[in-house]
Amino acid sequence: MKIAVLSGKGGTGKTLVSVNLAEVAGQARYLDCDVEEPNGHLFFKPGDLEIERVAVKIPVVDQDKCTGCRKCVDFCQFNALAYIREELIVFEEICHSCGGCVLVCPEKAFSEKDKEIGRIERGVSGQVQVHSGIMNTGEESGIPIIDRLLEGQDDDPDLLTFIDCPPGTSCIVMETVAGADYCVLVAEPTIFGAHNLAMVYQLVNLMGKPLGVVLNKIQEGDNPSEAFCLEKGLPILGSIPFDQKLGLINSKGEIAVREDQGYRIWFEELLTVILEEACP
Ligand code: SF4
Ligand code: SF4
Repeated sequence: MKIAVLSGKGGTGKTLVSVNLAEVAGQARYLDCDVEEPNGHLFFKPGDLEIERVAVKIPVVDQDKCTGCRKCVDFCQFNALAYIREELIVFEEICHSCGGCVLVCPEKAFSEKDKEIGRIERGVSGQVQVHSGIMNTGEESGIPIIDRLLEGQDDDPDLLTFIDCPPGTSCIVMETVAGADYCVLVAEPTIFGAHNLAMVYQLVNLMGKPLGVVLNKIQEGDNPSEAFCLEKGLPILGSIPFDQKLGLINSKGEIAVREDQGYRIWFEELLTVILEEACP
């Protein structure tokens, strides 16, 4: 079973929830798909690392074969091609490697080269298999890295897999959530937090995925995110109080359930609730 953990923005507690759930699950897998800012490995500190480089195809033009017909320029939806001063230019940084220009060129003027956009690090921490996608700075899209991370994850359907998703609601998040069996949305108790929760709820709901909400950093007073859940009838899976001790454990790069028995029990109960919701 694959459980995706999402939030409307970074810093909400998505990694805290997914790392601690994976740790209490025993034999489990943790996939860090937050490829722009992966930090689950900073907590797990996995050993025996295997590194796989991820590359994409970039078109290379043979100027001698190019007749300047601009069919490729018109085709490219990302404006990654321009025909200037009788020369075709490829802007590698914004090319999405769709391969379309290679197909539409009537002169067969294109070939392709590999361009490395990042890597996947795979290692083990305790009983958890830790897989982290890491995108190189300045790259346009981390989707190929996420696709590679998710590849083969259906081979062992009994293994509990926790997917730490990218923040927000962009297409990269949709790519990550597409194969998930259940979604856990993490939200802060502020108006901004409720707004972010509403956006990510809309996305997960549109994709037809079952979901529940974990409320994080709970304090006395109003909680607009809780109000949103009640209004929409969303299951509240658990509420994590605002706790300086938890903040301290986190800031030291430690995993709360390894350091504190109370948090271990709390996350074990959260996992039980999630599994009951996901497999009614
Ligand atoms: S591969 Fe796709 S995105 Fe890249 S230049 Fe060609 S058409 Fe544009
Ligand atoms: S489609 Fe081919 S021939 Fe036409 S401008 Fe592009 S590279 Fe040149």
